[in-house]
Amino acid sequence: MDKSVAILGGGESGVGAAILAQKKGYDVFLSDLGKISAKYKNVLSNFKIDFEEEKHSEDRILNVDLVVKSPGIPETAPLVIRLIEMGIPVISEIEFGGRYSSAKTICITGSNGKTTTTLLLHHILKNAGMNVGLAGNVGKSFAWQVAEEDFDFYVIELSSFQLDGMFEFKADISVLMNITPDHLDRYGYNMKNYIDSKFRVIQNQTNTDYFIFCADDKIIQSEIKNRKIKPVLIPFSLNEPAENGAGVKENKIVININKNQFNMSILDLSLHGKHNTYNSMAAGIASMVLEIRDDQLRESLSDFTGVEHRLERFLKVHGIEFVNDSKATNVNSTWYALESVYKPIVWIVGGIDKGNDYSMLKGLASKKVKAIVCLGKDNKKIHDSFEGDVKNIVDVSNMEEAVKAAYYLARNGDTVLLSPACASFDLFDNYEDRGIQFKKQVRNL
Ligand code: ADP
Repeated sequence: MDKSVAILGGGESGVGAAILAQKKGYDVFLSDLGKISAKYKNVLSNFKIDFEEEKHSEDRILNVDLVVKSPGIPETAPLVIRLIEMGIPVISEIEFGGRYSSAKTICITGSNGKTTTTLLLHHILKNAGMNVGLAGNVGKSFAWQVAEEDFDFYVIELSSFQLDGMFEFKADISVLMNITPDHLDRYGYNMKNYIDSKFRVIQNQTNTDYFIFCADDKIIQSEIKNRKIKPVLIPFSLNEPAENGAGVKENKIVININKNQFNMSILDLSLHGKHNTYNSMAAGIASMVLEIRDDQLRESLSDFTGVEHRLERFLKVHGIEFVNDSKATNVNSTWYALESVYKPIVWIVGGIDKGNDYSMLKGLASKKVKAIVCLGKDNKKIHDSFEGDVKNIVDVSNMEEAVKAAYYLARNGDTVLLSPACASFDLFDNYEDRGIQFKKQVRNL
């Protein structure tokens, strides 16, 4: 008899896992407690995959050999708890895909900068002529590509939720950008659980693999001291470069790998700001480990066009620059956004707060922010945190009002920065919707 698998979640990763499972001869059932989009329902029907939506039929799901869970479903969901109690393995789509792929993988995780670094590295490798796929939280699901494509390499963005469902998977190159509090609501408000989850990116790595990490990150530093780490460690830092690692010297990034040195002026990097220097160094190290030629690396680091909704400088209206950083859903990424702007800022902030502590933003806010526009259903914490630092704080209840208020408060030469430090679900479908509405309203000015 075929083995049976239940896939929980009918989005990109679940549908991809279902396709791969079917191809590998599993008896497949996909179940989603919410609605499945028309696009994915079509795909499932075309592949003749059995599915249900707006319910979980426990009689079927609790009888399978294996469950592949979408990262969006928390481990605390009653059904997941039942499955684990019954001893049915619950894994993530990347774990499942990895079981059927022999491609080399470069896995990127961290609290911030994952998508940017993943897309940048993919851009570099592709331009260098490698047969490389892009997977994980960005682009097409890994399992789906394993089923239908034939890549030699994958650059994979891994969230902590994906990592939580990974057990045997091994990255050939792992990258850890930083660790700052995020998603603590899903980790029992316990930072240690979140840190452990991020460090799963190095699990199963051996001494012929590589671990690229930010040496300036205090949490990562102390974890490295206290853990036994097998892969070759390659740090990146804004300070002097290590003998095997990347750093900054005289306004240049310098990357030393296996006695080769690459350097490039920070001014020539296409991505600006300190956080992006980290991202460029991380992608640069991985490229050098993979022996990309210097001239190719230099060209790709300078012509990468950036990523929508991440510090996206997209329009100037009457000398006021509008920057869309809708993807900044935590305090740390907003810190980098405020840090990277050198003009007076009208800052649009707010949304659903995942346990934010705004104190780390107070210094930058008092120096750089001339006015705050609060865009959330509950803005009390923002008022309480910044009332001593910023004189002008106004409340709005939708994007049209936010953009109009910011435009009214800004002068020629200022920057209006949407960098919410919060999730978007109180007023928007998701951060993309928030960013798109922002840009639409700016165009309407
Ligand atoms: P992720 O995929 O980890 O959420 P993104 O690349 O989408 O990261 O960037 C998310 C937000 O974090 C953006 O607002 C961006 O400006 C900011 N950011 C990008 N890279 C970094 C970094 N290395 N450190 C801190 N913040 C960053």
